[in-house]
Amino acid sequence: MNRVNPATGEELEPIEEHTAEEVDEAVTRSAEAYAEWSGRPMEERQKLLSGAADVLRENVDEYAEIMTREMGKPIAGARSEVEKCAWACDHYAERAGEYLADERIGTEPHAEAFVSYEPLGPVLAIMPWNFPFWQVFRFAAPTLTAGNTGLLKHASNVPECALAIEDVFREAGYPEGVFQSLLVGSDLVNDVIEDDRVAAVTLTGSERAGRAVGKAAGEQLKPSVLELGGSDPFVVLDDADVEVAAAVGARTRTLNSGQSCIAAKRFIVVDEVYEAFLEAFVREMEALTVGDPMDEDADVGPQAREDLMEDLHEQVQATLSEGATLQTGGEPLDREGFFYPPTVVTDVPRDATMSCEEVFGPAAAVYGVGGEAEAIDLANDSHYGLGGSVWTEDLHRGKRVAREIESGCVFVNELTKSDPRLPFGGVKDSGYGRELSEKGIRAFVNAKTVWVQ
Ligand code: NDP
Repeated sequence: MNRVNPATGEELEPIEEHTAEEVDEAVTRSAEAYAEWSGRPMEERQKLLSGAADVLRENVDEYAEIMTREMGKPIAGARSEVEKCAWACDHYAERAGEYLADERIGTEPHAEAFVSYEPLGPVLAIMPWNFPFWQVFRFAAPTLTAGNTGLLKHASNVPECALAIEDVFREAGYPEGVFQSLLVGSDLVNDVIEDDRVAAVTLTGSERAGRAVGKAAGEQLKPSVLELGGSDPFVVLDDADVEVAAAVGARTRTLNSGQSCIAAKRFIVVDEVYEAFLEAFVREMEALTVGDPMDEDADVGPQAREDLMEDLHEQVQATLSEGATLQTGGEPLDREGFFYPPTVVTDVPRDATMSCEEVFGPAAAVYGVGGEAEAIDLANDSHYGLGGSVWTEDLHRGKRVAREIESGCVFVNELTKSDPRLPFGGVKDSGYGRELSEKGIRAFVNAKTVWVQ
């Protein structure tokens, strides 16, 4: 697999792809491992997961550097990502037993009835490059602890991350075959989904990939979870703390160099505070340091691949030609690597490219609206529905507006973020199913009803 360091454009040493035969052997190992792993007591699986958290913490610098080298994430964020993976492992190491405990149903004294949560088998996870550790642990920590085995097909530009994650589980003492990486392109995915030994599939990635995987899973009648793109609204109401909203808004739009599914992408600001917000927001975006992602001070690194940077630039250019006004940024940086500056556009028509498509880079569309009702209407005027953020000093109002936004989560006076304790997932074209929390560990289990007369 060819790899390019996005900060320099230089080729990294290629990593050999697996053949179809090697993939078949891995599926065999996964099915064999499942037979033993699914029967282990929950406490043992929890203990091993706790060990995985230790391995992550012990090797945080090494794993962070692999991520930064392969996909350009600023190094401080890469270390935080490894820590967050360890947190997810801690969470399920503590809570998995409680989340999957038998659930009694109130049918006594007529009969006894309960739900028993049982694993399904090998689960295929197709994962993206943007949070190359976090997306995988978000899947693996609950899914393996529930008694399933995992097969990871990681994005083609991050194979070293895929191998490093396999090492985490090996070093933590997991039995062979419980977690394996398949180093293959997306062309071999269908064969794995169709394999009778594979029980279920999950994908985090683009809408295009989601449609393909959802279709293949549907044809096989296999359960699937899809976590796809987003175009999250960031609604600033007239009573918001505009300075705080602008600072947090700039942070969420540029987090991970703008390549986050739950980054705010459409900034919807009521007229009363529009000028004040825009001035502060542009100031915050311009104050960010774009630079070498190995540098501790870099806020924004390169885009992960050259084609992705070109796509981003095309979206910005198209939006400008559709009538929008450029406030800052808007041109790739004239330096080696794939750097795009924090960019802000205003006067964006509702049907413009940046209003309709997911913008996966540090470019924000800012909209002025007449009031709360128009803000909600515009927030919901998207085929995506992943997250959202609402800014107001009136918390009752914040909760009311949050309920009206069509998405999988809304944060009031905070940026949208994932957290092992909270369910995570979308509605509309952002996908279906939930990861994390109790809901995430129940994604790939058989909720079996047992009735005892
Ligand atoms: P993709 O959706 O193409 O890649 C994500 C994963 O899906 C990769 O492992 C990829 O494998 C795999 N994949 C791609 N196509 C298929 C398919 N037909 N069947 C099965 N698996 C498939 O994302 P890109 O890297 O192309 O990024 C493009 C856009 O996707 C971004 O600009 C962004 O809008 C969105 N995206 C959203 C993410 C999110 O977190 N919501 C994450 C990443 C991207 P391979 O790498 O081998 O192609």
